[in-house]
Amino acid sequence: MTADNWQECPQCDANRASEEFCKTSDLHEVYGKVSAEEYEAKRQELIEFIREVPEETLREDYQYQLDPCTTTLGVYYKCHCTVCNFGFKVEEKIDYLPLVK
Ligand SMILES: [Zn+2]
Repeated sequence: MTADNWQECPQCDANRASEEFCKTSDLHEVYGKVSAEEYEAKRQELIEFIREVPEETLREDYQYQLDPCTTTLGVYYKCHCTVCNFGFKVEEKIDYLPLVK
């Protein structure tokens, strides 16, 4: 591999959005049913959750290689999340036509 990069994982982002929705629904559910202090504690917990900066758990490896002998461009890309195991791989050779003046 010639390059690697880390970024936020799209599956973890989706999971986090779902978790935020559940936490928000739970907060609305307890409104008026728990003490003001308990409600405020849950509200602060939700605010902290929303403010957390997501970690970059998706590792990307990629490589491009031009082969003039076969007039192909080799493209390789692989990603994998260390938290949720999301990932995929793309490996392809693309024929190209040389531009001739
Ligand atoms: Zn993930």
